[in-house]
Amino acid sequence: MRTKIIAGNWKMNLDYAQAMSLVDGIMQMTDDNMQTRIVLAPPFPYLALVEMQSKMRTNIFIAAQNCSDKAAGAYTGEVAVSMLRSIGVEGVIIGHSERRTIYKESDYVIADKVRRALENGIQPIFCCGESLEERNSGRHFDVVRSQVENGIFHAGGTEIADSIIAYEPVWAIGTGVNATAAQAQEMHKFIRTLVKEKYDEQVAGKIRIIYGGSVNSSNASELFDCEDVDGSLVGGASLKASEFASIIIAMEKKLS
Ligand code: PEP
Repeated sequence: MRTKIIAGNWKMNLDYAQAMSLVDGIMQMTDDNMQTRIVLAPPFPYLALVEMQSKMRTNIFIAAQNCSDKAAGAYTGEVAVSMLRSIGVEGVIIGHSERRTIYKESDYVIADKVRRALENGIQPIFCCGESLEERNSGRHFDVVRSQVENGIFHAGGTEIADSIIAYEPVWAIGTGVNATAAQAQEMHKFIRTLVKEKYDEQVAGKIRIIYGGSVNSSNASELFDCEDVDGSLVGGASLKASEFASIIIAMEKKLS
């Protein structure tokens, strides 16, 4: 069975004290007997601190929210994947819709970031998803296919099998309107089929495909019933320890 993942994307929220108290809360409300892989993605300044604070836990992993597409050098303000690796970060969110839309990141820049992550042994959490207009015009499968093909299908079979794809329909992010379980399952199955066609059945069976978009403690359970939903990338609801822990517990209940 694929390890399930609940990842919290804190985005550009929380000051230092709030960040530390959130980690404390999550650590108190979860424990190492849980099978779910818990991923915390704080802002850059807190990464090393959150990593140190959660070090004694074997099921908490730290991810960055972004990385540079360059290896190193004169790129003021950028953060290289090798730097993340050197402080114990194990994953990186790449291609989040906020990066694609606000910072105009193209599929090609995103592909380079994925390449950098893989070169440094960091797990990409590769985001894809259509806008409302694209869904309403029936183009959602084409959009997701091209994002996945252009962004991550340059990876080798072993690399992609160990990667995470987050399906995050743009219309569901931060809106309070989540995809229905049926919509999520349909797209996750589609993505898994793309992986199978490009690689093989074994790789498709291993890759984790998680859902993101207004997941909370009320809708998580229904989404986690879906065969191809391997967990969730959680934004707003990851900022409250009790809410985030409830989502983790909802997943744990499916595993028991
Ligand atoms: C996200 O930004 O990755 C996300 C899923 O946000 P939210 O849960 O707030 O919709």
